[in-house]
Amino acid sequence: MHSIATIQAVQGRIDKAAIRFGKSADAVRLLAVSKGQSVTAIQQAIRYGLRCFGENQVQEALDKIKHIGHEAPDHTPIEWHFIGSIQSNKTRQIAEHFDWVHGIAREKDAQRLNGQRPSHLAALNSLIQINVSAEASKSGVNTDQVLTLARCITDLPHLRFRGLMGIPAPSNDFNEQRRQLRVLSDLFNTLKTKGHSIDTLSMGMSSDLEAAIAEGATMVRIGSALFGPRNQPSIHIHPDE
Ligand SMILES: *Cc1c(COP(=O)(O)O)cnc(C)c1O
Repeated sequence: MHSIATIQAVQGRIDKAAIRFGKSADAVRLLAVSKGQSVTAIQQAIRYGLRCFGENQVQEALDKIKHIGHEAPDHTPIEWHFIGSIQSNKTRQIAEHFDWVHGIAREKDAQRLNGQRPSHLAALNSLIQINVSAEASKSGVNTDQVLTLARCITDLPHLRFRGLMGIPAPSNDFNEQRRQLRVLSDLFNTLKTKGHSIDTLSMGMSSDLEAAIAEGATMVRIGSALFGPRNQPSIHIHPDE
Protein backbone atom coordinates (compact mmCIF):
# COMPACT_ATOMS: atom_id res chain seq x y z
CA MET A 1 0.00 0.00 0.00
CA HIS A 2 1.94 3.04 -1.19
CA SER A 3 -0.60 5.75 -0.60
CA ILE A 4 -4.23 6.55 -0.17
CA ALA A 5 -4.23 7.40 -3.88
CA THR A 6 -3.92 3.67 -4.63
CA ILE A 7 -7.13 2.93 -2.76
CA GLN A 8 -8.85 5.88 -4.38
CA ALA A 9 -7.79 4.61 -7.81
CA VAL A 10 -9.32 1.18 -7.13
CA GLN A 11 -12.47 2.74 -5.69
CA GLY A 12 -12.55 4.96 -8.79
CA ARG A 13 -12.49 1.89 -11.05
CA ILE A 14 -15.37 0.39 -9.04
CA ASP A 15 -17.42 3.60 -9.19
CA LYS A 16 -16.80 4.07 -12.90
CA ALA A 17 -17.78 0.49 -13.73
CA ALA A 18 -20.89 0.78 -11.57
CA ILE A 19 -21.99 3.91 -13.42
CA ARG A 20 -21.18 2.41 -16.82
CA PHE A 21 -23.22 -0.74 -16.16
CA GLY A 22 -26.07 0.91 -14.32
CA LYS A 23 -25.32 -0.46 -10.86
CA SER A 24 -25.08 1.32 -7.55
CA ALA A 25 -21.44 1.68 -6.45
CA ASP A 26 -22.63 1.29 -2.85
CA ALA A 27 -23.77 -2.20 -3.75
CA VAL A 28 -20.18 -3.32 -4.43
CA ARG A 29 -18.01 -4.02 -1.39
CA LEU A 30 -14.25 -3.88 -1.64
CA LEU A 31 -12.48 -6.83 -0.03
CA ALA A 32 -8.76 -6.06 0.28
CA VAL A 33 -6.84 -9.27 -0.38
CA SER A 34 -3.95 -8.98 2.04
CA LYS A 35 -2.39 -12.43 1.60
CA GLY A 36 1.38 -12.15 1.32
CA GLN A 37 1.30 -8.58 2.70
CA SER A 38 2.80 -7.46 5.98
CA VAL A 39 1.00 -6.51 9.17
CA THR A 40 2.34 -2.99 8.65
CA ALA A 41 0.79 -2.79 5.18
CA ILE A 42 -2.58 -3.92 6.56
CA GLN A 43 -2.41 -1.43 9.42
CA GLN A 44 -1.75 1.31 6.90
CA ALA A 45 -4.74 0.17 4.84
CA ILE A 46 -6.85 0.33 8.01
CA ARG A 47 -5.71 3.92 8.61
CA TYR A 48 -6.78 4.68 5.04
CA GLY A 49 -10.25 3.37 5.79
CA LEU A 50 -10.32 -0.25 4.59
CA ARG A 51 -12.04 -2.69 6.97
CA CYS A 52 -12.39 -6.03 5.14
CA PHE A 53 -9.38 -8.25 4.51
CA GLY A 54 -9.02 -11.54 2.63
CA GLU A 55 -6.44 -14.20 3.47
CA ASN A 56 -5.86 -17.63 1.92
CA GLN A 57 -3.34 -19.25 4.31
CA VAL A 58 -4.69 -20.05 7.76
CA GLN A 59 -1.45 -19.76 9.72
CA GLU A 60 -0.37 -16.54 8.02
CA ALA A 61 -3.81 -15.10 8.69
CA LEU A 62 -3.89 -16.10 12.37
CA ASP A 63 -0.58 -14.32 12.96
CA LYS A 64 -2.03 -11.17 11.43
CA ILE A 65 -5.35 -11.44 13.25
CA LYS A 66 -3.47 -11.83 16.54
CA HIS A 67 -1.61 -8.56 15.87
CA ILE A 68 -4.44 -6.55 14.36
CA GLY A 69 -7.57 -7.97 15.99
CA HIS A 70 -11.20 -7.45 15.03
CA GLU A 71 -11.49 -3.73 15.69
CA ALA A 72 -9.90 -0.69 14.09
CA PRO A 73 -8.45 2.07 16.33
CA ASP A 74 -11.73 3.97 15.84
CA HIS A 75 -13.60 0.89 17.22
CA THR A 76 -15.28 0.04 13.92
CA PRO A 77 -15.20 -3.69 13.18
CA ILE A 78 -12.57 -5.30 10.99
CA GLU A 79 -13.78 -8.30 8.97
CA TRP A 80 -11.51 -11.23 8.17
CA HIS A 81 -12.46 -13.32 5.14
CA PHE A 82 -10.96 -16.74 4.46
CA ILE A 83 -10.68 -17.00 0.67
CA GLY A 84 -8.40 -20.04 0.33
CA SER A 85 -9.33 -23.64 -0.24
CA ILE A 86 -10.50 -25.37 2.92
CA GLN A 87 -8.46 -28.21 4.39
CA SER A 88 -10.27 -30.39 6.90
CA ASN A 89 -7.56 -29.97 9.54
CA LYS A 90 -7.92 -26.17 9.36
CA THR A 91 -11.68 -25.83 9.74
CA ARG A 92 -11.51 -25.25 13.51
CA GLN A 93 -9.20 -22.27 13.14
CA ILE A 94 -11.32 -20.87 10.33
CA ALA A 95 -14.48 -21.30 12.40
CA GLU A 96 -12.93 -19.66 15.45
CA HIS A 97 -11.17 -16.66 13.89
CA PHE A 98 -12.86 -15.59 10.67
CA ASP A 99 -16.05 -13.66 9.94
CA TRP A 100 -16.51 -15.00 6.43
CA VAL A 101 -15.52 -18.10 4.48
CA HIS A 102 -15.65 -17.92 0.67
CA GLY A 103 -14.58 -21.37 -0.43
CA ILE A 104 -17.07 -23.96 0.80
CA ALA A 105 -17.20 -26.77 -1.73
CA ARG A 106 -18.00 -29.89 0.33
CA GLU A 107 -20.78 -30.76 2.76
CA LYS A 108 -18.20 -32.29 5.04
CA ASP A 109 -16.43 -28.92 5.42
CA ALA A 110 -19.72 -27.12 6.02
CA GLN A 111 -20.60 -29.61 8.77
CA ARG A 112 -17.21 -29.23 10.43
CA LEU A 113 -17.28 -25.42 10.29
CA ASN A 114 -20.78 -25.46 11.76
CA GLY A 115 -19.79 -27.79 14.58
CA GLN A 116 -16.65 -25.82 15.37
CA ARG A 117 -18.10 -22.30 15.22
CA PRO A 118 -18.06 -21.00 18.80
CA SER A 119 -21.61 -20.34 19.94
CA HIS A 120 -20.77 -16.87 21.33
CA LEU A 121 -19.91 -15.69 17.81
CA ALA A 122 -22.38 -14.73 15.10
CA ALA A 123 -23.03 -17.40 12.49
CA LEU A 124 -20.13 -17.71 10.05
CA ASN A 125 -20.95 -15.92 6.80
CA SER A 126 -20.59 -18.59 4.14
CA LEU A 127 -20.19 -18.62 0.38
CA ILE A 128 -20.18 -21.64 -1.90
CA GLN A 129 -17.27 -21.71 -4.31
CA ILE A 130 -18.29 -22.54 -7.86
CA ASN A 131 -15.96 -24.22 -10.30
CA VAL A 132 -16.58 -21.70 -13.06
CA SER A 133 -14.50 -23.24 -15.78
CA ALA A 134 -15.52 -26.84 -14.92
CA GLU A 135 -11.93 -28.04 -14.98
CA ALA A 136 -11.36 -31.02 -12.72
CA SER A 137 -8.21 -29.42 -11.32
CA LYS A 138 -9.94 -26.28 -10.01
CA SER A 139 -11.58 -26.27 -6.63
CA GLY A 140 -15.25 -25.50 -6.23
CA VAL A 141 -18.48 -27.36 -6.86
CA ASN A 142 -19.90 -27.98 -10.29
CA THR A 143 -23.06 -26.14 -11.13
CA ASP A 144 -25.27 -29.23 -10.74
CA GLN A 145 -24.20 -29.67 -7.10
CA VAL A 146 -24.93 -26.14 -5.91
CA LEU A 147 -28.55 -26.60 -4.89
CA THR A 148 -27.76 -29.60 -2.67
CA LEU A 149 -24.88 -27.84 -0.92
CA ALA A 150 -26.95 -24.66 -0.53
CA ARG A 151 -29.70 -26.62 1.23
CA CYS A 152 -27.14 -28.24 3.51
CA ILE A 153 -25.58 -24.89 4.53
CA THR A 154 -28.97 -23.27 5.04
CA ASP A 155 -29.88 -25.99 7.53
CA LEU A 156 -26.75 -25.46 9.64
CA PRO A 157 -27.45 -23.04 12.52
CA HIS A 158 -23.90 -21.73 12.97
CA LEU A 159 -23.44 -20.93 9.29
CA ARG A 160 -25.21 -18.16 7.43
CA PHE A 161 -25.52 -18.82 3.72
CA ARG A 162 -24.76 -15.51 1.97
CA GLY A 163 -24.07 -16.47 -1.67
CA LEU A 164 -21.45 -17.58 -4.17
CA MET A 165 -17.82 -17.00 -5.06
CA GLY A 166 -15.77 -17.97 -8.07
CA ILE A 167 -12.38 -17.62 -9.70
CA PRO A 168 -12.64 -17.77 -13.50
CA ALA A 169 -9.78 -18.89 -15.69
CA PRO A 170 -7.63 -15.82 -16.42
CA SER A 171 -8.41 -13.98 -19.65
CA ASN A 172 -7.52 -10.55 -20.97
CA ASP A 173 -10.62 -10.43 -23.11
CA PHE A 174 -13.42 -8.45 -21.51
CA ASN A 175 -16.21 -10.39 -23.21
CA GLU A 176 -14.64 -13.73 -22.28
CA GLN A 177 -14.32 -12.51 -18.67
CA ARG A 178 -18.00 -11.59 -18.71
CA ARG A 179 -19.00 -14.90 -20.26
CA GLN A 180 -17.35 -16.86 -17.43
CA LEU A 181 -18.62 -14.57 -14.68
CA ARG A 182 -22.15 -14.87 -16.06
CA VAL A 183 -22.13 -18.55 -15.08
CA LEU A 184 -21.85 -17.36 -11.48
CA SER A 185 -24.45 -14.63 -11.70
CA ASP A 186 -26.95 -16.96 -13.41
CA LEU A 187 -26.53 -19.49 -10.60
CA PHE A 188 -26.84 -16.74 -8.02
CA ASN A 189 -30.16 -15.69 -9.53
CA THR A 190 -31.33 -19.29 -9.76
CA LEU A 191 -30.73 -19.74 -6.03
CA LYS A 192 -32.69 -16.58 -5.29
CA THR A 193 -35.54 -17.79 -7.47
CA LYS A 194 -35.55 -21.03 -5.45
CA GLY A 195 -36.10 -19.03 -2.28
CA HIS A 196 -32.61 -18.56 -0.86
CA SER A 197 -32.26 -15.10 0.66
CA ILE A 198 -28.67 -14.50 -0.40
CA ASP A 199 -27.01 -11.15 -0.98
CA THR A 200 -23.35 -11.75 -1.84
CA LEU A 201 -21.77 -12.52 -5.18
CA SER A 202 -18.00 -12.55 -4.59
CA MET A 203 -16.25 -12.26 -7.95
CA GLY A 204 -13.80 -9.93 -9.65
CA MET A 205 -10.12 -9.45 -8.92
CA SER A 206 -7.58 -6.80 -9.95
CA SER A 207 -7.73 -7.72 -13.63
CA ASP A 208 -11.45 -8.35 -14.11
CA LEU A 209 -13.30 -6.19 -11.60
CA GLU A 210 -15.05 -4.19 -14.34
CA ALA A 211 -16.39 -7.36 -15.98
CA ALA A 212 -17.46 -8.64 -12.56
CA ILE A 213 -19.40 -5.47 -11.79
CA ALA A 214 -21.02 -5.64 -15.23
CA GLU A 215 -22.24 -9.13 -14.30
CA GLY A 216 -23.56 -8.13 -10.88
CA ALA A 217 -20.72 -8.70 -8.37
CA THR A 218 -21.52 -7.41 -4.90
CA MET A 219 -18.02 -8.01 -3.51
CA VAL A 220 -14.76 -7.67 -5.44
CA ARG A 221 -11.59 -9.25 -4.06
CA ILE A 222 -8.66 -6.99 -4.88
CA GLY A 223 -5.04 -7.76 -4.02
CA SER A 224 -2.29 -6.53 -6.30
CA ALA A 225 -4.09 -3.40 -7.53
CA LEU A 226 -4.24 -2.24 -3.89
CA PHE A 227 -1.03 -3.52 -2.37
CA GLY A 228 1.29 -4.03 -5.34
CA PRO A 229 3.11 -7.32 -5.80
CA ARG A 230 2.87 -9.93 -3.05
CA ASN A 231 5.70 -11.47 -1.08
CA GLN A 232 5.82 -15.24 -1.22
CA PRO A 233 3.46 -16.64 1.40
CA SER A 234 5.01 -17.16 4.83
CA ILE A 235 8.14 -15.10 4.18
CA HIS A 236 8.52 -12.11 6.51
CA ILE A 237 4.96 -11.57 7.47
CA HIS A 238 6.14 -9.22 10.20
CA PRO A 239 8.79 -6.87 8.84
CA ASP A 240 9.68 -5.81 12.37
CA GLU A 241 10.47 -9.29 13.68
C1 LIG B 1 -5.14 -13.63 -4.53
C2 LIG B 1 -6.60 -13.70 -4.67
C3 LIG B 1 -7.33 -12.59 -5.10
C4 LIG B 1 -6.70 -11.26 -5.47
O1 LIG B 1 -6.04 -11.33 -6.70
P1 LIG B 1 -5.40 -10.00 -7.37
O2 LIG B 1 -5.25 -10.40 -8.78
O3 LIG B 1 -4.12 -9.77 -6.66
O4 LIG B 1 -6.35 -8.89 -7.18
C5 LIG B 1 -8.70 -12.71 -5.16
N1 LIG B 1 -9.34 -13.85 -4.83
C6 LIG B 1 -8.67 -14.94 -4.41
C7 LIG B 1 -9.42 -16.17 -4.05
C8 LIG B 1 -7.29 -14.90 -4.32
O5 LIG B 1 -6.63 -16.00 -3.90
